[in-house]
Amino acid sequence: METGSGEAKHLWWVRRDLSGTSPAACAAAGSRMAALLVLDPAFSTTTARHAWYLSSAAALHHELQGHLDIRSGMPEEILSAYIHEHSITDVYVTGEFTPYGTSRDARIEKLLTVKGVGFHRSGSPYLVPPGTLLTREGHPFSRFTPFFQAWLSRLQRDAPSIPSFSWITEPSALPFDIPSLPYLPEAGHTAAVQRLNDFIENGLAPYDEARDRPDLDGTSRLSPYLKVGSLHPQEILTAISRYPSHVPFLRQLAWREFFADLLHHDPESASRDWSPAFSAFPWADPETCETEIAAWKEGRTGYPLVDAGMRELLTTGTMHNRVRMAAASFLVKDLNVHWTIGARHFMDHLIDGDVASNTHNWQWVAGTGADAAPYFRIFNPTRQAERFDPEGTYIRRFLPELSSLPIPDLFTPWNSVLRPRDYPLPIIDHDEAQRAAKPRYSTFRSSSRTDRDS
Ligand SMILES: Cc1cc2nc3c(=O)[nH]c(=O)nc-3n(C[C@H](O)[C@H](O)[C@H](O)COP(=O)(O)OP(=O)(O)OC[C@H]3O[C@@H](n4cnc5c(N)ncnc54)[C@H](O)[C@@H]3O)c2cc1C
Repeated sequence: METGSGEAKHLWWVRRDLSGTSPAACAAAGSRMAALLVLDPAFSTTTARHAWYLSSAAALHHELQGHLDIRSGMPEEILSAYIHEHSITDVYVTGEFTPYGTSRDARIEKLLTVKGVGFHRSGSPYLVPPGTLLTREGHPFSRFTPFFQAWLSRLQRDAPSIPSFSWITEPSALPFDIPSLPYLPEAGHTAAVQRLNDFIENGLAPYDEARDRPDLDGTSRLSPYLKVGSLHPQEILTAISRYPSHVPFLRQLAWREFFADLLHHDPESASRDWSPAFSAFPWADPETCETEIAAWKEGRTGYPLVDAGMRELLTTGTMHNRVRMAAASFLVKDLNVHWTIGARHFMDHLIDGDVASNTHNWQWVAGTGADAAPYFRIFNPTRQAERFDPEGTYIRRFLPELSSLPIPDLFTPWNSVLRPRDYPLPIIDHDEAQRAAKPRYSTFRSSSRTDRDS
């Protein structure tokens, strides 16, 4: 590429790395540079996840004092025009590992090579890039614990560098209005670091005890920041490493990386069962259970913990992990509905919606995934509520119509004379559903043990 002056001009192509500390930003900062974010029409613009992405992009635009150009269109076309306009010599990206991201980057790399422009992948949104770790026999890991051991031995505990930028572009105005969804958390790197520090101060030590309790503020709430890369996991690792109690939290971060690794090795598992043993599983025909699926989506199944979770999803764009497991189990095991239907609904509403974590957690619950929950593990929504929301604080928060019910009626409103008329009776009897599910699964099970406590 002819640059005129012979000077290297770098472009940080910003995607899922919305922070000035991202690996691609650090690599690009070696020369004068520009930063460009392309709003790609391949991504749905109607989801809560998209609103969160825009809000986080706006925060980065602010962080870079306007030195983030944001354009809408096909990445090929926008990049070609931008490179020409600014005589860019090298494009830097943080590596992508999703099926869409991988094939898009392969296309762009080809295009840029023809133009004589360098295309450089630096790091990844993970501590260990997907595809790095293999078993001794050279295969991808399919069990979490050996993956975790191998992963721990590869961690670098150095602090990420904070680059300073020398821009070739003038500041530009933000080309969209910041989405006004009322429940979005404060976006951006500064807010993410603030959240991390609050969590370290108040939540890291009791994390292992509190993380399963939806009634407590017991988890980090960092997943939305990790999803868009406003915070890199290396920053988390550096910050938590000096606390002896950090390992249970680190283990959860490793699940995120395990699922990304599984998806990298088997991209089709984003939409079909990871375990081929399930290809002939007798799932219900969704048309015959449309009413039950709609009740599940609306949080009107008659099981308070499931309903509170589904309403939390609709009203806050998130859901506590323990309740995600119980709500997912209800759909796939009690209602026998294929997990892809639930996974799609979650992706439409979760602000942390992530194809690897979402589809593989769904498959974990459904028993169709790697290292999945054993086939006989069927979450009892009433026992889960009694155990993890013992005072009913979480249920009352999201089901105001039940808020005056005492314990134990709150957990079994169908048995209570105090059940309000506008709260439904159970759409299915859990005990009967469980009895029907076990023989279905015992024939198709792919795994009878798991490394994850459930
Ligand atoms: C059916 C189902 C769907 C899910 N979909 C998503 C999703 O789309 N995106 C997503 O980020 N997480 C998903 N999870 C995992 C988990 O529920 C969320 O990561 C967690 O609730 C986020 O809250 P937190 O940041 O407070 O978690 P913390 O408990 O503070 O955990 C710290 C971090 O570890 C990672 N993590 C924790 N648990 C898991 C897990 N089970 N799998 C993968 N990573 C984990 C997350 O990055 C999280 O931010 C799903 C879980 C289930 C059961």
